[in-house]
Amino acid sequence: MSTEGLRIGIVGAGIAGLTVANTLIASGADCHVFEQAGQFADVGAGIQVAPNAARVLHRLGLGPSLDAVAVRPRRIEMRRWDDGAVLRSTDLEPCAELFGAPYYTVHRADLHRVLVEHLPCGVVHLGRRCVGAVEGPDGVALRHSDGSTTTVDVGIGADGIRSVLRRLVADDEPTFSGQHIVRGLVPGTAVPELAADPRVQLWLGPGQHLVCYPVRGGRLISFGATIPASTAGDESWTAPGSASELRARYWDWHPVVDRILAAAEEVTRWALHDREVLHRWSTARTTLVGDAAHPMLPFLAQGANQAIEDAMVLARGLRGIATGEVAPALLGYEELRRARTEEVHRTSRRNTQMLHLPDGPEQRERDAVLGRTADVRTQAWLFGHDVTEGWTAEASIAG
Ligand SMILES: Cc1cc2nc3c(=O)[nH]c(=O)nc-3n(C[C@H](O)[C@H](O)[C@H](O)COP(=O)(O)OP(=O)(O)OC[C@H]3O[C@@H](n4cnc5c(N)ncnc54)[C@H](O)[C@@H]3O)c2cc1C
Repeated sequence: MSTEGLRIGIVGAGIAGLTVANTLIASGADCHVFEQAGQFADVGAGIQVAPNAARVLHRLGLGPSLDAVAVRPRRIEMRRWDDGAVLRSTDLEPCAELFGAPYYTVHRADLHRVLVEHLPCGVVHLGRRCVGAVEGPDGVALRHSDGSTTTVDVGIGADGIRSVLRRLVADDEPTFSGQHIVRGLVPGTAVPELAADPRVQLWLGPGQHLVCYPVRGGRLISFGATIPASTAGDESWTAPGSASELRARYWDWHPVVDRILAAAEEVTRWALHDREVLHRWSTARTTLVGDAAHPMLPFLAQGANQAIEDAMVLARGLRGIATGEVAPALLGYEELRRARTEEVHRTSRRNTQMLHLPDGPEQRERDAVLGRTADVRTQAWLFGHDVTEGWTAEASIAG
C-alpha cells in the first residue's frame, strides 16, 4: 500500500523537511516542499549524524551518497581544556555492527545536497515562504508570501525553531540558553592530526566548550565554540561573529584549540535557544517535525538526528491511509515520538551544565564518570534506537 491520493504539503526544506519528503516519496506520496529561501546556499558548518539517524538514511538508499561526502570518525574524545588530558575516548568503530549504521561527520550543505538530489524534480519549491495556515475539515490552506495558497490534505511544519505552523498548536516562544555558539571551518592542515586520524573532539573547560571534527574528507575541520552570553540574538547560520573575540575568550586553552582558532577567518555566531516540550504537536490535519516540533540545544548533537527519526515514523503513519484517517495517523506518529524526543531534549539541556563545570570537586566527579562510560554500548539508548524496530516488511518505507 502507498500514500497515493493524499496531497501533502511540507513547509521548510531543512534536514527535517527534506528527509520527510524522501520518506514520503519512497512510500509513493504526492508531496511538495515549500521553502522560503530563494536558493540553497553552502551555509553552516559540520553536523554529526549518529547511527540512530544514519540507519534511516541508509534505509532510504542514501548510504553510498553519504559515504561519498561524509567522514567516519573513529572516536569521540572528551578532553580537558588546558592540558588536553583525555577524559573519555569512545571507540566508534563498533557502531556499524552494534547499531546497524556508522557514525558520520558531514558538512551540513553536503547532507542537504544528498537529500535534495535524491528527490524527483519539481518536489521542492524555492522562494515560497509560508506566512500562515488555515485548517478546515477538508484540508489545510498554506498561505505563501507571494499571495498564493496551496491546499493540501496534510500540512507538515518542518520550518524550524521559529515555525509558523507551530502557531496552530502552541502559543509559546523560544527559551534562550544563556549560550552563544561561534562556528567556522578551518583547513585540515591547521590540525593535520585530526584529518589523518578522524575524531570528534570535545574540549571541556569552565563555562564553555569547543567541538571539532573533520568534514569533506578531512580537507576542512568544522568547529563550534560556546561562549556564555547574557543577551540572546539571532539563530542564523550566516550572522557574522568575531574570530578575534573568540580567540580572546579561549586564549589560555590547549595549543590544539589555539591552532584551530588561529586559523579561523570567518565565523558565524548563533544564539542557542530551545523551547519547552510540547505534549501535543498535531491537529486533525497538521503536524510538526524536527525543530518545529521539539527544538533542542545542540549539546547532545541530536536535533537533526531526531528530525530524521521523526521523518521515518511520520511517513510510515501516513502510508496507505485515506483522508479520513489522517487525524489518528498524526496522533499515532506523535505518540511514538513523544517520549523519545523528550528524553533527548532533557539530556541536551542537562549537558549544558555538565559540559561547562568549573574546575573543582564536581568537575572531578564528572570526569570520573566520563572515564567509566567510554564504551559506546553505554550510548545504546541513543544510537541503538531503531525507529523501524518491529515493522513488518509490508509496513516498511524502504530498504
Ligand atoms: C551549532 C549547532 C550545532 C548542531 N549540531 C548538530 C549535530 O551535530 N547533529 C544534529 O543532529 N543536530 C545538530 N544541531 C541541530 C540541528 O541543526 C537542527 O536540529 C536541525 O537543523 C533542525 O532541522 P529542521 O529542518 O527541523 O530545521 P531548520 O534547519 O531550521 O530548517 C528549517 C527550514 O525551513 C525554512 N523555513 C523556515 N520558516 C519558513 C517559512 N515560514 N516558510 C517556508 N520555509 C521556512 C528555513 O529556511 C529552513 O530551510 C546543531 C544545531 C546548532 C545550532
